[in-house]
Amino acid sequence: MSMFDWSKECKTMKIPIIAGNWKMYKTHKEAFQLASALKQKLADVDRTKVVLCPPFTALASVKEAIEGSHILLGAQNMHWEEKGAYTGEISPQMLLTIGCKYVILGHSERRSYFFETNETVNLKVKSALEFGLIPIVCVGERLEEREANKTEQVIEDHVRGAFKDLAADLVKRCVIAYEPVWAIGTGKTATPSQANEVHLFIRELLSSMFDKDCGQDVNILYGGSVKPENSKELLEMSDIDGALVGGASLDAESFEKIVRSAI
Ligand code: PEP
Repeated sequence: MSMFDWSKECKTMKIPIIAGNWKMYKTHKEAFQLASALKQKLADVDRTKVVLCPPFTALASVKEAIEGSHILLGAQNMHWEEKGAYTGEISPQMLLTIGCKYVILGHSERRSYFFETNETVNLKVKSALEFGLIPIVCVGERLEEREANKTEQVIEDHVRGAFKDLAADLVKRCVIAYEPVWAIGTGKTATPSQANEVHLFIRELLSSMFDKDCGQDVNILYGGSVKPENSKELLEMSDIDGALVGGASLDAESFEKIVRSAI
């Protein structure tokens, strides 16, 4: 497999990205219904990138449901190898041929329950880019790390680890999701200024690691209990380019409201 040629892919203007991480929810039929409802509700939305990341078993039915709309398809994980004897795994090639454009990598649930490390996240980021998939790389500190004033150290380890040995041009194609672990599925949201502060830190770090434009060029999403009640104030912040939404993306009405708050 030769490297995907990103230079031929036009670099679109920075527009908000709202991605729904459906986690291990929705059978393929339920996923078809939810995606069909969203296609209808969001038919007029073309200035926000809406990405649906259902479970692997529902990728095909969601792809079918969103056909002819602006909604894009993403997966929640992948292996870094193209193929092989890796029982239970899914390859980048499989995601690509089913219609995925994005793939979430290094989600905190994968790091904590399935022992993903910065090293495996790095292998996956490189592989996704090689195949032409856009990685949504999740980084974020746990509560005890924030309380011990280690937020920046943890974020820096995650960012340095995920993008190790990558060229600036490729890093600029990636999306980062800052997801404080203490805010995921807990109902506790980082305040807009807490989130923005970390986003700024990530931008400065990327500019120091790669080139000066890198920090500004990378889309950085916030994730962690985003809901219709708080999405507008988060999305209005200077350095928040969008949201990665878990629980609230499972309901068409609440996800629609979040998408519309980014307009
Ligand atoms: C997530 O899983 O990425 C997430 C942010 O979940 P929630 O919105 O439910 O906190």
